Amino acid sequence: MRILVVEDEPKAADYLRKGLGESGYLVEVAHNGLDGQFLSQESDFDLIILDVMLPGLDGWQLLRSIRRKSAVPVLFLTARDSVDDRVKGLELGADDYLVKPFSYAELLARVRTLLRRGPPREVELFRVADLQLEVLSRRVTRGGDRITLTNQEFSLLHLLLAREGEVLSRPQIASHVWQMNFDSDTNVVDVAIRRLRAKIDDPYAPKLIHTVRGMGYKLEVAE
Ligand code: CA
Repeated sequence: MRILVVEDEPKAADYLRKGLGESGYLVEVAHNGLDGQFLSQESDFDLIILDVMLPGLDGWQLLRSIRRKSAVPVLFLTARDSVDDRVKGLELGADDYLVKPFSYAELLARVRTLLRRGPPREVELFRVADLQLEVLSRRVTRGGDRITLTNQEFSLLHLLLAREGEVLSRPQIASHVWQMNFDSDTNVVDVAIRRLRAKIDDPYAPKLIHTVRGMGYKLEVAE
């Protein structure tokens, strides 16, 4: 079992590395958010232990970025016993949390429970602002309203959500959604985007699908 520990305080990181190592886990440590992001994308871990207060990319941002691509169990460590922090962490997709300071026995118990839940599944639920897409049931809601999409619209939205924040070119979108090469006529993408917008964006705020002039489209909550 491989565990990634993202913790900037050297003493705490060492303590976790030693303890978990002695308990039989393979442990890798990242000392800041960016290294944590790199390692989490670079290889497969069975569990990520994530300190919330990190330099550079903080634990929340890192958790968001992990959840875009993976359902690996995440246990977050928070310094304050604050309800806001706990709620925020769980809303962002963390599986459990521990308030510092904690005993090693307590940590080990949480780690074992999370690892017993089995291997991570594919991301089944995407959520951006109040828009939600459940992959298996193909259920899409915005602000609690159920939205009916055609198969193509669903594939298009799924793609935009899976690549949240990335600009996708028209040919990229065309090849994903229609599995065809639409280089000659990417107008079909514009039409599909317009239809999708009418359903998931036009009646709501904030707008999530953005046109990036000369490049394509991206889905994100604009800053
Ligand atoms: Ca810290």
